[in-house]
Amino acid sequence: MSDAAAVTIEPPATGALPLAVEKPTLFMELLRPSSLPKLAVCPRYVPSAEAGPYAARGSKLDNAFRLLLAGEASALEGCTEEEQSSLRWAEAMTRLLSGEEAILYEKTDCRMRIPGLPHGGEADAITPGRFRSFDLKSGILREYREQMAAYAYGLMEKHFASEWTCTLLFLDLRQVVHMRFTYEEARGVVENVIAYYRDPESMATPGDACGWCALREVCQARRNLMAESLRVLELKEGLDHIKDDPEKLSRFLVGCKHLEDAYKNGKEYARRFFEGGGAGIPGFKLQTRKGNEFVAPGDVASALAHLKPGELCQLYGNLSAEKFRGAWADKYGAADPPDIIQAGNASTYVRAAPSPKEPKAKKTKALKNQ
Ligand code: SF4
Repeated sequence: MSDAAAVTIEPPATGALPLAVEKPTLFMELLRPSSLPKLAVCPRYVPSAEAGPYAARGSKLDNAFRLLLAGEASALEGCTEEEQSSLRWAEAMTRLLSGEEAILYEKTDCRMRIPGLPHGGEADAITPGRFRSFDLKSGILREYREQMAAYAYGLMEKHFASEWTCTLLFLDLRQVVHMRFTYEEARGVVENVIAYYRDPESMATPGDACGWCALREVCQARRNLMAESLRVLELKEGLDHIKDDPEKLSRFLVGCKHLEDAYKNGKEYARRFFEGGGAGIPGFKLQTRKGNEFVAPGDVASALAHLKPGELCQLYGNLSAEKFRGAWADKYGAADPPDIIQAGNASTYVRAAPSPKEPKAKKTKALKNQ
């Protein structure tokens, strides 16, 4: 039980009852670079023990990236065509940004001690001659400032540098984000999050971290928000009561977002119940969607060999800009693609904006998109 013991977790400061959850080891486990962005949002955040398919995919891609930098022929085995293309793009960007300097990719070279974080950290690749590290990210653009500050802090200690640039390579989007820190900035960011986490007065703060939090279904702070939204619906005037009040509308929407998450989690439990042979859930059924029929690209090419490339492209229709940029980068590296990328009609919708809330301690700046 030592690695997955049931431990009692202190309640979020808003008054939830103590609860027992499965968590990997001790509380110090939380202080990892990857947890810092979430702890900066909510100091009571506890990582969920379930790694999930996204984490498994991230590890696979990190591993393939290292092998690619090492020149291993088998590097891309097990990756989809899209992933292979993205990884080649990431390799090209890494080599371009490293110039003639040596790129270190072995785990032992990429590991670092980070003051205050007992487990240290590990970048995906480092170019010490350029005071730069690289980190692959899959999925959408997210805020990784605190994690990158931790790497920069540790790597500046290791390489006796006073400035460091962390380069994030967003594989699925083919986007590069640079974050440059001075030693004081990086240390300040890390120490601020640790202080926020250790502050006994700090409160559970619902936000982007909740989706990954082990307490998400029992957190009182989150429940309070959801209950507030439900109470609006109980009012005689309903939503009419808040429709012209930006503050109330915002709180209502935030609470609904958490209700939506709870709905998704509930559906996941229902799916497991059905798949486990459960008798049924009134009002719901398990729906299996038939997979789309398709013809593999190689089979299209041989079956329709009489068509010219242009005619085949017409059959396929428009190519996404990301795929085009990827194919271009595979052939021409970092050279700008021709000016043929078009954009469809814009649409307007409301989305949640990143919370302006920062850890209580003083803010430090990182330079982005340089
Ligand atoms: S569920 Fe959200 S608010 Fe509650 S402790 Fe976890 S991260 Fe914080």
